[in-house]
Amino acid sequence: MKVNSHETVHVNEQNQITILCNQCGNFKTIDTDFYKLIDEPLTIKITCNKCGHNFKIFINFRKTYRKATNLSGICYPISRTGPRNTIDYMRISKITVENISRTGMGFTLKSPIYIQLEDILEVKITLDNKKRTKITKQVIVRRISNNSIGAEFTTPVDERYKDLAFYLIP
Ligand SMILES: [Zn+2]
Repeated sequence: MKVNSHETVHVNEQNQITILCNQCGNFKTIDTDFYKLIDEPLTIKITCNKCGHNFKIFINFRKTYRKATNLSGICYPISRTGPRNTIDYMRISKITVENISRTGMGFTLKSPIYIQLEDILEVKITLDNKKRTKITKQVIVRRISNNSIGAEFTTPVDERYKDLAFYLIP
């Protein structure tokens, strides 16, 4: 059981946050310019516009550290709602991850696959730490330029992802 229902969300470079409703899986992106004027971490109330679920989130405005990397992995689109065990062979690509932060990652596709903005991808990478930790994360596509993708984690990296969080310490 979850003790603390206040999910911490981090503000991305466009001053936006992505909120995931864990009742129905609905994603919502909101601008935080307004909240930023308050200039301190704060808790806001959210009502899901799909299922009406009420919850609170904690917004953290701390600047996120971005680690330059050269990691290999794969990615493929997954359905927001449907079963996740079927992967379309035509839509898997090897990737090179150029940077990772607590909120997202930038990577290059090794083979061109069909991807659109807002698609949800599953990304599997191997860290270059001692343990060669394998990481699986889901991301939302935020930027596409040729084969270069900027994506945001559906869940920011926090204490639950020990290896990745440790890896991201400057
Ligand atoms: Zn909902």
